Amino acid sequence: MRENDFLNWLSSAIPSDPRVPINVGDDMAAVTLDSYKNLALLKIDQALDKVHFDLAIHSARAAGKKAVNRCLSDCAAMACSPAAIMLSVALPNTADENFARELFLGCKQAAEKFNCPIVGGDTSIWDQRLAVTVAALGSSHNPPLTRSGAKPNDAILVTGKLGGSILGRHMTFEPRIHLALELAKLLPITSMMDLSDGLAQDLPRLCARSKVGAIIAPQQLPIHPDAETLSVNDNIPAGLHALADGEDYELLFTCPESALPILFPSPGAALPGNLAKLAIPITRIGTITPETTLHLLGPNDQLLPWPKAGWEHSSK
Ligand SMILES: [Mg+2]
Repeated sequence: MRENDFLNWLSSAIPSDPRVPINVGDDMAAVTLDSYKNLALLKIDQALDKVHFDLAIHSARAAGKKAVNRCLSDCAAMACSPAAIMLSVALPNTADENFARELFLGCKQAAEKFNCPIVGGDTSIWDQRLAVTVAALGSSHNPPLTRSGAKPNDAILVTGKLGGSILGRHMTFEPRIHLALELAKLLPITSMMDLSDGLAQDLPRLCARSKVGAIIAPQQLPIHPDAETLSVNDNIPAGLHALADGEDYELLFTCPESALPILFPSPGAALPGNLAKLAIPITRIGTITPETTLHLLGPNDQLLPWPKAGWEHSSK
């Protein structure tokens, strides 16, 4: 089974509902409580041993931390403040009490960093590997940022540096919540998501939701030093790692070109708000197009096909 096929079927099988202002398929779900001022955003996410972490290598604490941070990264994706977290844990029967405590402490450490309480959960024990399900309730910037508002000629930007997270960052990344809230305050952002499966897979998802296309300049991609390290070992260009590797957990967003001077002020001028303090690089990597296809910009400005790559969970 391919995850994308199943997700496409799911979104067609769930009817639209006036109480649900954001269609299925964004980073979080939303439900209106009484008015649009009172919007609850919801997320549920699984983290599995041997899929999202490996207990042969990673500690229980590191696994717990990652499980919660994956959910918090989706809160960042929608520029929403996490208000509560619930956990559902299936512990392997080989785990002792110290393991369970360490797992919880990892979850708690991640949530506390964003002042988010863990309000409840459920634990069971079985004869299979560890599975941690994290549900997050968020309270939103009004209106929340979604994947569906990108417009032709908008600039496409990413935070941080991309590629090579498999060398360790996929366990230790910091959800970009503070940066997302700041960006939402300062910029007329038209769409946003977090990069979990890699730009090569995630940008087409954003474009599909916004019914637009994109041209990306690969030479503009902010390449993480981990991607360079991987490249030396596997001979795959570092730029391709930046484009295709999963689990960067950085933000991908769009805004009108006219807003770019806010992010890139003239030399000598200060960055607005807390951007200088947050000190996370932001890079323009391309432009939204009206045609619904995606391309890479080659040398001499020719349009190259979009690479079919990225990280898709699959049971094939
Ligand atoms: Mg996401």
